[in-house]
Amino acid sequence: MTHPHSTLITGIGELVTNEDGWTALTGAALVIEDQTVAWTGPAGSAPAADRVVDAAGRAVLPGFVDSHAHLVFAGERSAEFAARMAGTPYQAGGIRSTVAATRGAPDEVLRANLARLTREMLAQGTTTLECKSGYGLTVADEARAVALAAEVTPEVTFLGAHVVPPEYEDDRAGYLDLVCGPMLTACAPHARWVDVFCEQGAFDADEARAVLAAGHAAGLLPRVHANQLGPGPGVQVAVAAGAAAADHCTYLSDADVDALAASGTGFSGTVATLLPGVEFSTRQPYPDARRLLAAGVTVALATDCNPGSCFTSSMPLCVALAVREMRLTTQEAVWAATAGGARALRRTDVGHLGVGARADLILLDGPSHTYLAYRPGVPLVRAVWRSGHREL
Ligand SMILES: [Zn+2]
Repeated sequence: MTHPHSTLITGIGELVTNEDGWTALTGAALVIEDQTVAWTGPAGSAPAADRVVDAAGRAVLPGFVDSHAHLVFAGERSAEFAARMAGTPYQAGGIRSTVAATRGAPDEVLRANLARLTREMLAQGTTTLECKSGYGLTVADEARAVALAAEVTPEVTFLGAHVVPPEYEDDRAGYLDLVCGPMLTACAPHARWVDVFCEQGAFDADEARAVLAAGHAAGLLPRVHANQLGPGPGVQVAVAAGAAAADHCTYLSDADVDALAASGTGFSGTVATLLPGVEFSTRQPYPDARRLLAAGVTVALATDCNPGSCFTSSMPLCVALAVREMRLTTQEAVWAATAGGARALRRTDVGHLGVGARADLILLDGPSHTYLAYRPGVPLVRAVWRSGHREL
């Protein structure tokens, strides 16, 4: 008797399940029932199912969990990128040009851009994504951004504290009051997370703590943009606030690494989310991922897809960069892009393919996960299932 909504994927060359750290089976099969993984094991002992897909020796991986993206915006900044490649350094203030374009865009333009980017992500194997506000920076524009983000993902982050907008240039305290008051009140119903860009040129430690505390009081969980452009207090603020993740982590002191390690692993510690596409696109040094791993810090990889510092939506590119430029092993990089991302979002149902996991998985055009780094820039995602539904 077969389940009416079951799919057996068999002939899997390598099945990455991430059930207990890095876990992979060869010559494997997997059964999807409705929206979840119902069975994994050797292909020869797989149960029957309603539908059969022959992987023909290809690899099956958990869908990527992109825990850091800024997708609600209008306009683009390719000229800024070109200037940067010609020697102009990246500065946080460039965010303001996207703010102006976003404020001026009708809902349909923002929604269409969001749809285009999420389709791109899905086609590259991302089955869970986080999406931030942060290019509105008025009560109405931030509320619009989180509402639009909530149309495409439950992992919505309120980032009113992205940068101080020009009209508050001479009144930082006034902008902080707005973010922690009416803007937060308007955004909290659509958001799960609160975030702050704790950086020179953005918000300092006291300001960041105030934003996270206000967000916490409104029922939002903290995460922080930390230590991207230089050494700073971001990581310490994140760990002290119990943030799920400190993102970027490009410039870390020994005390920062110790604090991340001491926060613990599993689903209560602070994950170091590395965004190698940003270093690639800003020509900054890559973070020292090996130092974090050696200290026992949980590492995630994400895209930071945004029009300024990194306009890639590709988790496979991030895996390849993490392997080539940050010296992660191929296993570490794929784990960080799947299970690591899930920890950064405090999600136990995604990022792995254990029995009971949400059936979010990708079929790779290659016999192993290694192909993601071995064949960089090549579209290797051949099929994607999300919540058990075949999307492509
Ligand atoms: Zn970001």
